[in-house]
Amino acid sequence: MNQRVIALDSLLNTGVTKRKGCAASGCGGAADGPDDMAPEVWAKVRDHPCYSEGAHHYFARMHVAVAPACNIQCHYCNRKYDCANESRPGVVSERLTPEQAARKVLAVAAAVPQLSVLGVAGPGDALHDFTRTFETFTLVARTLPDLKLCLSTNGLALPDHVAAITALNIDHVTITINVVDPEVGTRIYPWIFFRNRRWTGLEASRILLERQMEGLERLVAAGVLVKVNSVMIPGVNDEHLKAVNAAVKQRGAFLHNIMPLISDPAHGTHFGLSGQRGPTPAELKELQDALAGGASLMRHCRQCRADAVGLLGEDRGQEFRLDQLSATTQTADPAPRLEYRAMVAEARADRRRAAKAAAVRLAPLADVLPRRVAVCTKGGGRINQHFGHAREFQVYEVDRTGVRFIGHRRADNYCGGGFGQDENLEAIIAALAGIDTVLAAKIGACPRSRLAEAGIAVIQTYAHEYIETSLSALFASGLAPQALAS
Ligand code: SF4
Repeated sequence: MNQRVIALDSLLNTGVTKRKGCAASGCGGAADGPDDMAPEVWAKVRDHPCYSEGAHHYFARMHVAVAPACNIQCHYCNRKYDCANESRPGVVSERLTPEQAARKVLAVAAAVPQLSVLGVAGPGDALHDFTRTFETFTLVARTLPDLKLCLSTNGLALPDHVAAITALNIDHVTITINVVDPEVGTRIYPWIFFRNRRWTGLEASRILLERQMEGLERLVAAGVLVKVNSVMIPGVNDEHLKAVNAAVKQRGAFLHNIMPLISDPAHGTHFGLSGQRGPTPAELKELQDALAGGASLMRHCRQCRADAVGLLGEDRGQEFRLDQLSATTQTADPAPRLEYRAMVAEARADRRRAAKAAAVRLAPLADVLPRRVAVCTKGGGRINQHFGHAREFQVYEVDRTGVRFIGHRRADNYCGGGFGQDENLEAIIAALAGIDTVLAAKIGACPRSRLAEAGIAVIQTYAHEYIETSLSALFASGLAPQALAS
């Protein structure tokens, strides 16, 4: 293993260097890479954890909450709800001025070399009060020009700001588009605020849709990569999202991210209070599978807070609260980030080589149903996390055609303060519905036994291996889960 891969391992705290010969065994393979797209597009997405599934194993993003107000109301949103442990769009612990945001970005950049992206994603709409968003980006671009800039918007104000977006080199924009039929939109949007007046009903939905489509087309024409987010709401727009996928593909969207509705009465949203349920993981997967051949799907979104900091799936936001900023280092020195990116480039090339080896191993095998497996990982594309520490499980499907990331399942971790938490274990078992195999770096005897009772085998054999190498070996073994776990 070369020195750069060892240094990367220590930054990600993956523990790979504790065992011998892992990297030499070959493995891994990001789901995307330079062979899959034009060089200029690869250069834009290579280090972006949301636009590249492969990058999300290595790179961090941060959101700064400089956009407090919104120009539309959605039935799934309540920006007043605020809980530091809650991870979902629109939730923040503190709102920032552009100057405060710029100081916070400097502090995070000094402490987190994995940082590659700064985004404005709320808690309101990034383009409703665009001056705060653009001032933040202007300040940050002056001191940290190596960071990619991106923003999220509902699209209502978007056509008015395409020129400013391109002038500021914001080359990633997310538009939330839930419908392409205004009639369906009336069940999601009670009102919009546009041209100094409030619009309701069909007219509100029609205006919003027209503005979204105009904004999407103009951004694509300007060379900006556009991701479309859609909230999947069973019985409201779930079937309709097939038409949304086709429409945004036709207009050149780079990715389509279908997010399950998060609905809970405690959040105080219209859908939460009216009992509208979100989709199950199986329903989401079924829709995603039905969209094969349509606009490319993002499957690794974590529906982050509007003040999230860190790798996707972790949130270090509480380490960088405003009241802590005076005690943190703030430096614009890009050297640690550039060094880190060079290390990642080598590690990803190694992983792609290994992915090819995994594909060669799988290709001659029998054409049987795919196997679905959850893995515990802290990053780097490896099985490198203790089961008890996992707060999310990444889910892969493997068959003779390859290893595919299909999503993640979340639950509070089993180990808390050195003790196992039985109620969390039951929640984990529920979250893993439909999955009978978990790969972890380690697991204690008690939780392993309870999981076995629930029909879930936890396998430690592949600790610290790349995910693709492990899954291809597991599939090639052909053994039933319980046989492997014994
Ligand atoms: S909400 Fe999804 S797209 Fe946005 S930063 Fe989080 S993972 Fe990326």
